[in-house]
Amino acid sequence: MQITEILAWRVGLPLYEGSYKWSGGNSVDVFDSTVVEIRTNEGVTGVGEICPLGPAYLPAYAAGARAGLAELAPHLLGLDPTQLGLINQAMDRAMRGHPYVKSALDMACWDILGKVTGQPVAVLMGGRFGEDFALYRAISQDTPEAMARMVGVYRAQGYTKFQLKVGGNPDVDILRIHAAAAELQTGDVLVADANTGWNQHSAIRVANGVKDVDVYLEQPCMRYEECLAVRQHTDRPMVLDEVIDDVAMVLRGYKDQAMDVINLKISKVGGLTKARQIRDLCVSLGIAMTIEDTWGGDIVTAAIAHLAHSTPPEMLFSSTDFNSYVTVSIAEGAPQRQHGRLATSTAPGLGIQPRYDVLGAPVFVVR
Ligand code: MG
Repeated sequence: MQITEILAWRVGLPLYEGSYKWSGGNSVDVFDSTVVEIRTNEGVTGVGEICPLGPAYLPAYAAGARAGLAELAPHLLGLDPTQLGLINQAMDRAMRGHPYVKSALDMACWDILGKVTGQPVAVLMGGRFGEDFALYRAISQDTPEAMARMVGVYRAQGYTKFQLKVGGNPDVDILRIHAAAAELQTGDVLVADANTGWNQHSAIRVANGVKDVDVYLEQPCMRYEECLAVRQHTDRPMVLDEVIDDVAMVLRGYKDQAMDVINLKISKVGGLTKARQIRDLCVSLGIAMTIEDTWGGDIVTAAIAHLAHSTPPEMLFSSTDFNSYVTVSIAEGAPQRQHGRLATSTAPGLGIQPRYDVLGAPVFVVR
């Protein structure tokens, strides 16, 4: 089987709630997502998606994804999409870094591998653990009262895991965490995600200010060393996200006992192939994971679901249903949240069909 054609589309994904706000005054109203399709000489096709969380979250941005895809796509023509190791080697040889650019292409190749073998991607990645898995809900940065109110709103939708977007004024963040914690019920999980927004002394103040609260702290500061210093000053459980971008960082964090949980985003590490490698390593090391991506619609949600559903439940801290945040559906067959939980499709590959009427005209075709 050979790759004969690669197409890319740009699609806007507006948010039901109007906007999504996190640390540093960052916000997004309409996500700028990119869908790719890989076509082959045997008629089998696969789709992938990459949707950075705006240009200021990670070293990634939507127009960069499309420019990088146009640069990279010609290097994949003629290759066998079912041989993921060779595909990833070819991408890494043709372009240094830029893992998010490679993610959508790798995702599309997994979709093809699943269709060719007649297996869902989750089965190829280890199998489906149980019927479904638990999701978290992100609570956009707002006043302490407004954020606390959303705990009840989202619990009514079935969620039991809540991720507060903090990383702002540390005094207000302490109030946000206490206000949200007051709404928790037994069995709920609360995470305060600073998204790198605190400096080291502010993060330590917040950690001290919530030491009586059952809360996880996520990525308090920009640099790994700052996060490690915060970790050494608090006994709240720690999640690392933005700084964990490859296997070496997982091993460094493990050696330093810098975190209890990592946030594993598919595009942050370069695609499903590399995310699975990190997932399997974390399972072996005993590091739990939130498995998700930087954002996306139905295609990213399906890919997340396959990786999350094939992860032993005791190591899966939480996951995400991004397609429920946005008003536009770009694929049929994508998993849909039920009582705060998600299950993968049992159809071969990613189990989805792109809605070409929604995608419109491609932004490029390479053949
Ligand atoms: Mg995070």
